[in-house]
Amino acid sequence: MSKVRVRFAPSPTGVLHLGGARTALFNWLFAKHTGGEFLLRVEDTDLKRSTEESTHAILDALQWLGMEWDEEPIYQSSRIEEHKAALNRLIDEGKVYKCYCTPEERQVMRDEAKSAGRTFIYDGRCDGKPDQSDKAFVWRFRISKEGETVVEDLVQGRVVTPNYEIEDLVIARSDGTPLYNFVVVIDDAAMGITHVVRGKDHLTNTPKQMAIYNGLGLPIPKFAHLPLILGLSKRLRSAGIESYREQGYLPGAVNNYIARLGWSHGDQEIFSDAELIDKFDLADVNRSEGALNVEKMEWINQQHIMATSREELAVMVTPFLSRAGIEVDAEDPRLPQACETVQLRSKTLVEMAAKMKFYFIEDDSIVYDEKAARKFFTEESKARIDGMATALEASQDWTAQAIEDAVNGFCESSDLKLKHIAQPSRVALTGEATGPGLFEMMVVLGRASVLNRLRRACGGE
Ligand code: GLU
Repeated sequence: MSKVRVRFAPSPTGVLHLGGARTALFNWLFAKHTGGEFLLRVEDTDLKRSTEESTHAILDALQWLGMEWDEEPIYQSSRIEEHKAALNRLIDEGKVYKCYCTPEERQVMRDEAKSAGRTFIYDGRCDGKPDQSDKAFVWRFRISKEGETVVEDLVQGRVVTPNYEIEDLVIARSDGTPLYNFVVVIDDAAMGITHVVRGKDHLTNTPKQMAIYNGLGLPIPKFAHLPLILGLSKRLRSAGIESYREQGYLPGAVNNYIARLGWSHGDQEIFSDAELIDKFDLADVNRSEGALNVEKMEWINQQHIMATSREELAVMVTPFLSRAGIEVDAEDPRLPQACETVQLRSKTLVEMAAKMKFYFIEDDSIVYDEKAARKFFTEESKARIDGMATALEASQDWTAQAIEDAVNGFCESSDLKLKHIAQPSRVALTGEATGPGLFEMMVVLGRASVLNRLRRACGGE
């Protein structure tokens, strides 16, 4: 097989949704798995709807997801001369004709077909008409109505279309502005694309595009049409990758999740990018639609957070802490330590930042959860907290073990069980009744903060 060259060809008319990201991902994985190339083509010929802002958003999202592309992105709008040259060739070779039918006339044809119970296929009535220089026209590409067109789709299998069902398609407006089904062929051929991997919504375009390849004498690439993604609520449908980033998803988790929408490898659920590349094969893409499920996505994110090193998490969580009003120096050694204490219980980086916020606020700024304070700050437990603070102050070392020994020693001498002081001191240290393991948390907080916070709670503030 010659070197695989695939492309992702977004239209920059909005943000990159999960569906688009999955198309990009499958192209990227296929390229990486086969040692091929992954190219980008920005389909920006619809000048009214395309924006630079959207192009940037899409490229940013791809970069954040780690899908680095090879070569410079191609902007379709810059290739207009090539498109016009190809049209002129087809005109010279007599493979296209001018169609003068007005939208009203086409509507009549459509209505007739409907009342006769047929699918509307333009009947080629303008083919061979003499030139009518005063009338508006479009260029139609003539398609033989004999035989059938077969797509050997790498995902959908063999898809056969009788040629009488493929209408002579409009490939350019009268001013020579070429249209999608035409330019996609010219550009894919010019970019040396070997496999066109895209959404199943394009499957009906493929026989038309194959006719154009033949008309232009170009080699036809292989096709793989991916199942659509269902179960998208309007909110999820309109959410761009950027919004998942803001909600605290890890790029690897988003890739893992969208890969599993339509692809599987045994019953494995969690994949790193490297594993996806290693295991991905177009042959394992399902034909059935994938359905979105937010709980599953959160679970996958949690698994990825669990598998990420505390140093990497420290870098990732910093902007989320900042958003929560906590500025922490990137070099602060407590940052990775704090991450480690909460990483097993966080579904997103937003949640993680909320859980570790208490480490970094001033000792006298801890706000006690009202219910927890009422329950755990009784006079009796305040006295116990005070006693524990004194025991901790005397501890020689400040390791989890030394802290545990000091606390156990205090419990024994006071005839208490750990449970009598664990919750009260947790509320004193964090403001909440739930949180990381007591001893590991105290190590990260440091002796001075621990003593300050315990004593502040005893002070009855
Ligand atoms: N620009 C087209 C789209 O966004 C892509 C078409 C293709 O992949 O051939 O749907």
